[in-house]
Amino acid sequence: MSKVKDKSTLKYIISLFGLFAISFLVLILTHMYFLNLVANLDKKTKNQESKIKISGFIIEDIAKIRSSFFEMSAGTSDENGIKFFYEDIQSNILSINKSLNILDKGGVLERDIASNLIQINYIAGSVEDSIFISKKAIQSKLAEFLKIVDELSIVLYDKNKYMKEKNFQLLKTMKTIKKINKSMPSFFNKIHNDINEVILGAESKLNEIRFEIASKKKQYNYMELILIIITLFLSLVFALKIAKQIFEMHKILTLKSKKLHAILDSTDNMVIVTDGKKINLGNDTFLNFFDYKSIEAFSQDYDCICEKFLDHEDYFSLRLLKEGENWIEYVQEQKSVQKIVTIMNRNFEPRSFSINIKEYKEETYKYVISFADITEIKIESKRYEKLATFDSLTNIYNRQKFSEVFDYELNRKKRYGTDLALIILDIDYFKKVNDTYGHDIGDHVLINFAKIVKENIRIQDTFARWGGEEFVILLPQTDLDGVMTIAEKIRAIVENNVEVKIPQITTSVGVTLINSKDSRKNAFIRVDEALYKAKNSGRNCVIFAKKNEVIV
Ligand code: GH3
Ligand code: MG
Ligand code: MG
Repeated sequence: MSKVKDKSTLKYIISLFGLFAISFLVLILTHMYFLNLVANLDKKTKNQESKIKISGFIIEDIAKIRSSFFEMSAGTSDENGIKFFYEDIQSNILSINKSLNILDKGGVLERDIASNLIQINYIAGSVEDSIFISKKAIQSKLAEFLKIVDELSIVLYDKNKYMKEKNFQLLKTMKTIKKINKSMPSFFNKIHNDINEVILGAESKLNEIRFEIASKKKQYNYMELILIIITLFLSLVFALKIAKQIFEMHKILTLKSKKLHAILDSTDNMVIVTDGKKINLGNDTFLNFFDYKSIEAFSQDYDCICEKFLDHEDYFSLRLLKEGENWIEYVQEQKSVQKIVTIMNRNFEPRSFSINIKEYKEETYKYVISFADITEIKIESKRYEKLATFDSLTNIYNRQKFSEVFDYELNRKKRYGTDLALIILDIDYFKKVNDTYGHDIGDHVLINFAKIVKENIRIQDTFARWGGEEFVILLPQTDLDGVMTIAEKIRAIVENNVEVKIPQITTSVGVTLINSKDSRKNAFIRVDEALYKAKNSGRNCVIFAKKNEVIV
């Protein structure tokens, strides 16, 4: 279930990012489109502005021509003055023609305004020019005008000449000048109006363009706003969905975690979840055992639970690890007998635990380790082991254990040919002890007997109660002399032992050497025979039995 939820949350998160990416892209594309649009409109604006400027120059030039013309025709100048005005008019007409050419065909208009060279770019016809000026009409008018100026300058020359000569022709000349002057205003007005129309057209175009820019800007702003609102709305929807998913997932996880804790806490075993060192989870049994309130508190004091393992010769402890070796990996490879550790509890009592490790390879905290307390089981099994091995009265080995050791030593003897001797001891007239002093005293005699013998044999010798008041000793690497010496020594010690409240006793001793063809049964028949001989020889003596014969 949570997997499905995970996937749909992921789907929503991816959708949210997708939405942001698409919105961002659309926003950038819209912005770029708008910038391009504005750049184009800007170009158009500049063009129209150039048109207005050029037209302005024409109007300025016309004004200059007009004033030069009237100053010239006023007739106050001398010849040089006339020439000056004439050239001025000529150069202004030239510059008007230049301007008209640029307006007509497009290009760069260079103009020197008080020696400051300015350049104006104009692209003719590339934008929707609603007004086309009639360049030819203006230029022909200007040419016509220049002729009039030519005529005027001649008349003015004549006028000057007639004035000097006081010629009667002067009056006629004056009339001609007046006539020329009269015709001028309407002529200039006509050109002026034409150009003004150009300017008005350009201005209205300019306004149109400005309006278009403003409306595009508005459109763009609306689009941007709508896009942002849509993005925000969808983001909100997705975010709500994600939040809901996360909330539900959190609910499920909390429930799961509660269940998990309940399961973990319901077991008597200590259970931890770890990455090999750091503990991520530990159940109540674990916390109670170490007397900690939380895993965090435990982790502050210990890096690893393995720091709590006690040194033990039979069980796992850290000294078995090589440098850098992980304790979990080491324990995993061991047989179940070695998967035991001893840990001190909160009351400083060592407890033994059997370790069970479950590994979940794909997880970070991949080990789930449970520690089952087997202290009681171990104590019980030790008790059974003792019962099976030791005689409960005398606390020395019993018949069962002795037989095991005998078989082991017999094998060794057969393999390596070393010496091996067997002694059997039977307390003399023990029945009488019981009869005279009671069974309890009889028991004490047995206990004391075992004690004396044990004190007088070597560590490598095996001593056991064979049954009733019969005892056996197995002596590895002991030859005839050796075994006879020990047997005699024991016999004498028993005879001479004096203890308070314990009656004195003697013991008869049978001795034999084990040979490589012997079986346990054979050996015991032989040593029993020697004991029998000892009894028959008046007791309290040592008899050695060779194979198939008995020697005193
Ligand atoms: P012998 O010199 O021929 O060995 O004579 P004995 O009396 O020692 O031999 P017998 O086999 O007749 O008697 C052994 C006695 O040991 C009989 C039995 O009641 C006693 N006995 C066996 N086991 C125990 C025990 O655990 N405690 C006591 N108190 N007596 C035991
Ligand atoms: Mg006996
Ligand atoms: Mg006896």
